[in-house]
Amino acid sequence: VVNNRRILPFSNASLTQVCGALIKGDLVALPTETVYGLAANALDPHATRKIFDIKGRPLIDPLIVHVASTESVDALAYANPLFEQLAKHFWPGPLTLVLKKKECVPDLITAGNDTVALRCPKHPLFQSVLQHCKLPLAAPSANPFGYISPTRAEHVDRMFDKRLQYILDGGPCEHGVESTILDVSNSDSPTILRPGPITREILETFLQQPIKVRTHTAPTNTTESQLAPGSLEKHYSPHTPTYLLQEGEWLAHTFQENSALILFKHPHTKHLPQNCETFWLSESGTTHEAAQNLYHLLHTLDEKNYSALFIEKTPNTGLGQTLNDRIQRAAAKSKH
Ligand code: AMP
Ligand code: MG
Repeated sequence: VVNNRRILPFSNASLTQVCGALIKGDLVALPTETVYGLAANALDPHATRKIFDIKGRPLIDPLIVHVASTESVDALAYANPLFEQLAKHFWPGPLTLVLKKKECVPDLITAGNDTVALRCPKHPLFQSVLQHCKLPLAAPSANPFGYISPTRAEHVDRMFDKRLQYILDGGPCEHGVESTILDVSNSDSPTILRPGPITREILETFLQQPIKVRTHTAPTNTTESQLAPGSLEKHYSPHTPTYLLQEGEWLAHTFQENSALILFKHPHTKHLPQNCETFWLSESGTTHEAAQNLYHLLHTLDEKNYSALFIEKTPNTGLGQTLNDRIQRAAAKSKH
């Protein structure tokens, strides 16, 4: 461990250390352009199992496999022309594509499904690691299951404490929300499984065809969650009780003592509500900036002793639908 710290600045030495750990079958946390990931060798079930254990992630929730380039996909999955077209345009980047898997992909990765989710990340540090260790890397977000995703190395450090040996520091994440997941395993009906930085509008404009969006319903039993992996209604949630407000609803809301209010943008008024401290996700009112700040603000506020967090929905334009998906799930009551 460099300087006795687990948060490693990028260098040739830290690259060697991190890749050594991955090749050995250990876990490391790495920055991506979306959120920080917890990576392991995707072809080694023993290594991948550690991801589920440390996150407390149910085995029915499949993992995304990260690859260095489109060329690495052939060894893992059956590509099709729709995949080729999308990967050529959007990779490397925040778009995960689901394809029919090949035999070598362990069941643990896919939760027993016959498909595998693949992504080629753009972040230069993650790319260096992929190229150096020459392994496909399973990497879900580096947080305990159900908690807020990390967008900075410090978030990962705080959540996992001594249990994680290496965290490669790449600074704050560019997008701040998880990748878009698009199922292209059936090229006749591409379907968004999770909204993300590559929006439905962007995909429809590029493909010149309508794209379906899977609407998630809260699974009530295991079979249902197997059909809709990762679509739990409650997710990305702070420990502090969190409540959703419609746009502008805060103006007339009575807040309980010692609460925090998170607005979408700068309210430009001196008349802020009583009983609560007010924050906003975007200074300038862009959904891009709001996405970059969302998880960091939730992490920061959850560390304080607020009695409740109130979070305002964002406009539905740009990244708004993605943000509202995360905000709604952060504020959802647990169904378990
Ligand atoms: P995370 O890496 O924590 O952001 O979560 C990855 C998510 O990718 C899962 O929760 C699933 O929703 C989705 N996913 C991964 N593999 C598959 C697959 N084979 N089919 C459908 N969705 C998948
Ligand atoms: Mg996650």
